[in-house]
Amino acid sequence: MRCLILSDIHSNLQALEAVLKDAAGAYDAVVCLGDVVGYAADPNAVTDWVRTHVLAIVRGNHDRACTGDPVIDFFGDSAREAAIWTQSTLTDQNRTYLQGLPKGPRLFAGFSLSHGSPRDEDEYVITKSEALDVFLHLPAEVCFFGHTHLQIGFGLRRGRAWVLPPPDLDASQQSYQLEPDAWYLLNPGSVGQPRDADPRAAYALYDTESRLLVLRRVNYDIALAQSRIRQAGLPEYLAHRLAAGH
Ligand code: ZN
Repeated sequence: MRCLILSDIHSNLQALEAVLKDAAGAYDAVVCLGDVVGYAADPNAVTDWVRTHVLAIVRGNHDRACTGDPVIDFFGDSAREAAIWTQSTLTDQNRTYLQGLPKGPRLFAGFSLSHGSPRDEDEYVITKSEALDVFLHLPAEVCFFGHTHLQIGFGLRRGRAWVLPPPDLDASQQSYQLEPDAWYLLNPGSVGQPRDADPRAAYALYDTESRLLVLRRVNYDIALAQSRIRQAGLPEYLAHRLAAGH
């Protein structure tokens, strides 16, 4: 099965639309690693699309914060302000959908989905040593995770961990053939708010039969996403950071 792996869309409709146009025809199923909403200005349009197109999904901390979970108390000022705005903007149907999202990890088509790490949905996995720690808790050989907004992958074989070669900033894609006797923790990056100094929307394609992973970046209309954020009266920082990719 050819899967489109999306994470951390964060209400950014312009980025989501660019990803879908770029990936058209290249997948049979869509999965999502959480944080559908929070930060940007189109929570309903994005959730409407996710509700009707995503086959397997886990909840993110922002999906919880935007639907009444006390996790909001741990948020910084701009994230909190956006979560409160999103709470008041979501339709009843979308709020109910987001509230009902399952906690990860979850298995789909032989691989695992989680928002943070497979052992803790709120854990950030950024470094190789953090990944090595989590490898003991993997529910499947191939595990996709999000939450950090960094497009990166880690491999493990016989106690040795490595980082997949980082994508070339000038390239729009990087392909990796996953090896049969290794374990993987893979982050497709964030569709709606990349934080790896590359402002392009990030996503992954994964073919469960060939075990080919493709990490892609795509340009989108950042200026429009920024003007939507400003029109909504959300913090200027949330518009500013999209152009910087942090
Ligand atoms: Zn996120």
